[in-house]
Amino acid sequence: MSFSVWSDEINNTARENKSFEKALKMDMENIMMLDKEKQTAVFYAGEDTEDYNTTLSHCDCQDFRYNKKGQAPCKHIYRLALECGLIDPDAEPWATYKTYSKLYNSVTNKIKKLNINNLQKLNAYIDNSKPE
Ligand SMILES: [Zn+2]
Repeated sequence: MSFSVWSDEINNTARENKSFEKALKMDMENIMMLDKEKQTAVFYAGEDTEDYNTTLSHCDCQDFRYNKKGQAPCKHIYRLALECGLIDPDAEPWATYKTYSKLYNSVTNKIKKLNINNLQKLNAYIDNSKPE
C-alpha cells in the first residue's frame, strides 16, 4: 500500500488523510505537466509563485518543505502517485482515508458552528456525563 519512500505509518495520520483528500479533489487544470514514465509533474502554484516541480519523494511547495519538513507526502505527491496509478483510491487503506476525511470534516464543521452558549452547554453536558 505504501508508495515510493513513504511507509504506511507516515500516511496513516489525520494530516496525511487531509493531504490525500486534497489530492483527490484537485482540478486537472492545476497539473501543468505530467510525465507518468519519469513519475514527475509540475503543478500550478498561483499567479505570483513559481510552479511546483514534484516527484514521488519531493515537492517544491511550502507544505512539503516547511510544514512537513520533507517527512511526509504533500497533496501534489499524492496526486502524482494517483495519476501514475500507484495508489488505488478505492482500495485499502486509501478508501478508509476517504471515509475518515469525510467524518473529520463533518465534525470539524459542526464544531466551527458552535457559539459560546452551545459550547457552555456542551461543556456542562460533558461534565455531567462523567462516570461515577
Ligand atoms: Zn507539494
